[in-house]
This record gives sequence, structure tokens and C-alpha cells, in this order.
Amino acid sequence: MLLSPEQTRALYQHAATTRYAVLAVNADSPAAIVDCLIAARECDAPIIIETSLWQLTGHSFGAGDALLGIDRYLAELHTLASSDRFRDVPVVYHTDHIKGPATVGILTHAMRKRASSISLDSSAMSAQENIETMIRLCEIAAQEGLPLTLEMEAGVDDGVTPLEETRSLFGEVERLMPGRLALWAPGVGTKHGLGNDLGGFSPDAIRAHRELASELAGRPIGIALHGSSGLTEEQLAAGVAAGVAKVNWSSESLLIRSEAAAAFFDQNRERLGKSHPDFKATAMDNGLQQSISAIYVPKVKARIESLNGKGQASDFRKTLQ
Ligand SMILES: [Zn+2]
Repeated sequence: MLLSPEQTRALYQHAATTRYAVLAVNADSPAAIVDCLIAARECDAPIIIETSLWQLTGHSFGAGDALLGIDRYLAELHTLASSDRFRDVPVVYHTDHIKGPATVGILTHAMRKRASSISLDSSAMSAQENIETMIRLCEIAAQEGLPLTLEMEAGVDDGVTPLEETRSLFGEVERLMPGRLALWAPGVGTKHGLGNDLGGFSPDAIRAHRELASELAGRPIGIALHGSSGLTEEQLAAGVAAGVAKVNWSSESLLIRSEAAAAFFDQNRERLGKSHPDFKATAMDNGLQQSISAIYVPKVKARIESLNGKGQASDFRKTLQ
């Protein structure tokens, strides 16, 4: 089931109050999406498929056109998530790291097409621009009668965000346009990418930001964790215990898939010769993708389990009835 914005808000609250986090994968190909849904189904867990601008304009979806990218992602997820096989998997479609002058246009399109939840990349924005853009999205949703479930971020790569910014950024959007915010993504000592020193990762900061954001909103607000690729299982568990409700996963996921692809071609170089009897079976996309899937799906399942996501889909579905 592909979740509506209203159902998605309920899912984020369920995660925040039940103390688990939903894995959010930047799945950048149709095969990667299928693998994420297989892993979620096998864990009986909800899953978020999220797309940054590079995925929307990427060759497998928008091929240069971000709006076409949204339409194709949603078509893919609608079709898969309503199939018999994945009907019981709560699937969220989330816009992640949208930036640049087209940001509001892209996110308005996503709202109109009923993307489950929305966020943007504020790294090049001033605090005021961040607030104004979030308010603009809320105004468009209100004018057009669209449901809106928002994640707001601040300085996710810049060390630990001061608590005061929860008040001045998150609190200001909540004060002006109450009820739309569902997740808060402050910096908590992580960094996007691989090979970073994450020694400054701070579950205490997660706890303090979660408590203040929830107090300002008057409802449970979970923390969205960016730059999780380098964290250990113990660090992830501590983050979830402190109030992380959504964990973004991109760099490590790409590394696992690209290493599996490299291994497939290394191992099958001979079979890819034009006179080899297995040439066709090896050269087909299916050969490569099945081989990647066998390595990738267990890793996604392990990540879901380390976030305490196992079994949460059944529990969440009961809350929707
Ligand atoms: Zn991020």
C-alpha cells in the first residue's frame, strides 16, 4: 500500500511513539525499488522510497526532467505497492534533497500528485529562506486543498544544531502554519557520504531536539537522521532509542549495489563473450539484477532490523482501521 500524506503522518507518529525508525532508501532504479519492497515484506516493516533531485532527473526516471521523474516514481510505486505481493507493505514516497530555483515548482508538483511526504535541501538557504520556503509550500497546499506532510531540516552536515534553532526554525513554521510538520532533521553529528568521522554523533542531541520539537508542536515529532551510512549498529540503536523515526540511507546502499554489479561483471567476463552458450542469460538485465538482489536484500533487511522495524507493518496497519 502506497501511503497518502495523512497515513504517512500517522506512520511517522507511530514510529516516534513506538520507538522504531522507518528506513528511507534513495533507491535509484526500478530494480532497487523492488529489492527494498522485498526486504520490507520479509521483515513485515514499513519502508520509505525517497528521491533526491539527482534521482528524479536520473536516466532511469526523469531522464533530465524532474517532474517526469516524480510521475514515473509514483507510477512505479503505485503499481508495485498495490500488487498482491506488496499490498500489506506500508510504502512511503518521500522527496529528499530537492534544491535550486525549481524547488517550489518540483515540490508543488509532488504535492499535487500526492507524494506521501515532502522535504527540501536547505543547505544553501539562510534560516529565513528555509522558513519562507516551508511556509510557501504550506500556503500552496492550503490554497489548493492538498494534504501535506513535511520534514524540515537545518544544518544536517554542520555538526550538532543548537537547540535554539529548533525554536527559531521548526517552531516558527509550526506557529505560522500549524499541523503540517511531522519530522525534524537537525544536525546531530553525522555527515552525508562514506568514510567520515562520526565520532561526534550525539543521541543526547537527538533526545533534546525530539523533546523540544514535540513540545512546540504539541504532538509527537520524530527526528529524521541524515548521513547514516557510516554509523554502527550500536549507534543506530542508540539513535532510535533517543527518538529517531526516519533513517535516510543512500551512500552505503549505492556502494553495496555497485560492488555487487562490479563482482557480477568480474565473475562473468567469459560468459559475456559473443560465442559463449550462456551469453544471452548473462547479458540480460535480469542476470545482473538477480545477482545484485541476492547480495542487497539481506543488507536492507539487516538495516531494517537494526532500526527495530521488524513486525511494525502489521502493528501500524491495525492503527489505520
Ligand atoms: Zn540527507
